[in-house]
Amino acid sequence: MKAAIYYGPRDLRVEEIEYPKPGDIGMVLKVRAAGVCGSDLHPYKQKWERYSTGMAIGHEYAGDVVEVGSKVTSVKVGDRVWGTALKPCFKCERCQAEDYLQCKDLKAGGINGLHGGFAEYVWFPVVLLDRNVIKLADTMSYQDGALIEPIGVGTLAAKRTGAKAGDVAIVLGAGIVGLGAVAKLKDMGVSKLMVSDVSEKRLKAAKELGADILIDAAKEDVVKRVMDETSGRGADVVVEGAGKPATFLQSIDMVRPFGTIGVVATYEETFKFNPSLARPGMPMTSLVRKNIRMNGCYGLDAHGSFDLIKRGKVKDKQVVSHVFPLDKIVEAFETQMNARDSIKVMVES
Ligand SMILES: [Zn+2]
Ligand SMILES: [Zn+2]
Repeated sequence: MKAAIYYGPRDLRVEEIEYPKPGDIGMVLKVRAAGVCGSDLHPYKQKWERYSTGMAIGHEYAGDVVEVGSKVTSVKVGDRVWGTALKPCFKCERCQAEDYLQCKDLKAGGINGLHGGFAEYVWFPVVLLDRNVIKLADTMSYQDGALIEPIGVGTLAAKRTGAKAGDVAIVLGAGIVGLGAVAKLKDMGVSKLMVSDVSEKRLKAAKELGADILIDAAKEDVVKRVMDETSGRGADVVVEGAGKPATFLQSIDMVRPFGTIGVVATYEETFKFNPSLARPGMPMTSLVRKNIRMNGCYGLDAHGSFDLIKRGKVKDKQVVSHVFPLDKIVEAFETQMNARDSIKVMVES
């Protein structure tokens, strides 16, 4: 079977690998749609911790169950599912709490230790229905299914801000994770939902998912606009999904005192930041002085995302900008790299 193997920065090769066996408690999935994730681009651009070389990359996918292990009763051959291949230790404290993504010895498909979804088939060492596998609704396409993972990351980030109905919210960065946060915040009933990005295409998608105010960060001062829109008060919640030193600092500038910032972006650059010092000429720009609550956000709310997609709050047509066959994996990655022109690039095998 064919798979896109990661060998290092700018080195992905479609090769033949061995077809997997399901194992007693696992399954084999025929991949129908797999998304290129923003986080796949980090190891594609530069050396990046964790990513295993010599393994198939890709962790956002959906497809058909084609084989199940002898002890698996929760799914059957022919089921259409979203899933994420993982192998937790089942022993550590986080595994005991069934929080498998935080397992200290986790092996994750497409990231480290297990083959991922840019392949014809994926092996799941373990099937935990409604944990790492969810059956798709009949109304959901395979691409909708592959969106459960990235939309779920944004969904979790939105939830963790604790936004309430009537709040003013802004999402920095309208990549797929930011768009997931937009859809979820809208669903949570925020009254004024702002989104900033430098891509017209991504801003248009944000509008379709419910954003009230679009801010083109290439043309406009985002902090000033947020302050204007809130009569100088600042936003109740900010989701930082852009991942630049500037946007991190702006999130502090634009949130109101006692407001919440959810940091969900992955940062490629290291930068200096003093939490207690305001910047010159901007007295209210200190994390400490403004009593800001800042949440790191990692992982996903797969069920929350499934629910949004099932209810039609996010549809594949709104966010999938390109589709490539597996053989064109390099083109798929290069297209996803062009953040102005792409939203979510999908690969079909
Ligand atoms: Zn992802
Ligand atoms: Zn564990």
